[in-house]
Amino acid sequence: MSVFEELIGQSHIVQTLTAAVSAAASGEESQEMTHAWIFTGPPGSGRSSAAIAFAQALVCKNNGCNSCNDCTTAKSGAHPDVEIIRSEGLSIKIDEVRELLTRTAWAPSIGGWRVVVMEDADRLTESAANALLKAIEEPGLRTVWLLCAPTLHDILPTIRSRCRHVQLHTPSTNEVAEFLVSRHQIAPKMADFAARVSQGHIGRARHLATNEAVRNRRNSILAIPAKLTSISSAYSAAAALVDLANEESAAISEELDEKEYEALSTALGKGGGKALKELEKEQKSRATRITRDTLDGALLDLATFYRDVLLVQAGHNDSLINAELTDQIVKMADNSTSHRTLAKMDAIMKARENIQRNGAPLLVMEALMCELIN
Ligand SMILES: [Zn+2]
Repeated sequence: MSVFEELIGQSHIVQTLTAAVSAAASGEESQEMTHAWIFTGPPGSGRSSAAIAFAQALVCKNNGCNSCNDCTTAKSGAHPDVEIIRSEGLSIKIDEVRELLTRTAWAPSIGGWRVVVMEDADRLTESAANALLKAIEEPGLRTVWLLCAPTLHDILPTIRSRCRHVQLHTPSTNEVAEFLVSRHQIAPKMADFAARVSQGHIGRARHLATNEAVRNRRNSILAIPAKLTSISSAYSAAAALVDLANEESAAISEELDEKEYEALSTALGKGGGKALKELEKEQKSRATRITRDTLDGALLDLATFYRDVLLVQAGHNDSLINAELTDQIVKMADNSTSHRTLAKMDAIMKARENIQRNGAPLLVMEALMCELIN
């Protein structure tokens, strides 16, 4: 099966990419094949999977067969001519880009193309983006740049104007459910549930379908709206949410941190004090990011509850995202107005923005929960 068949709900981009892969065989730039691309799409639509599939197809002798050694190593990051940049911190700094440019300054080792996939190009600092721009402006040595970002606006206009743009869609609930059943052997009922509540976010759907703790956490988040009856209940709900996010962040970080620390201290021996300090700083910034992302996910879950309330208030009781909570949703719809529900959804979206802008999580959540009091 071709690497492009693995992409969920993105059949509209496959023709562009396969045409580019065929044209790339000549080794020359052409109308179909260019050396700089931007993949955009909403979170969870699989923009980096699409970029990696394209990278696989470019280095595979069979245009992305998904089974040869080139295809497998390109995907895992072990292919000598494919570099996948995953940033774990809040930003990609100029030093990292300079190092990357040094590494990619020589011709591909196997022949064909060298491909760099940058998963979070929206996190490039301005100086890092300018360093990258220089490399993109002077294509040489057959390097292809695949930059991924949520939207085109997240990329510096000067870079954007030199790239070909590939836009991914949010896959439908059915497409995500089918994918969970066929690729991950999830039972159909669970797959439907996970796809429905994840709103086309493939990674979240898979995580939810395969992980009971994640489902329990979602349940406790969705139990919040009904509990918000007083200021004190709002404050305790805010504290519980932040605790939940911190626990999740600690669980993910601890494992990564320890491995990295050990690897680095073994590599550097006694003289590695400064580098280890630097690593600790990066790890701290990653933990902050995971906490923020977890809170953002929790807020999106909360928003689906009020979205359902609004739907019921508009007279549509079918197609609720949280069909399991119909009783609670109908009750809140009866005791409130659509005007009030819209104001609550608005408050949730503002809280998401505040979290992204480095607002103190507990303060943002407390303010939000007070606005959500019934
Ligand atoms: Zn292959």
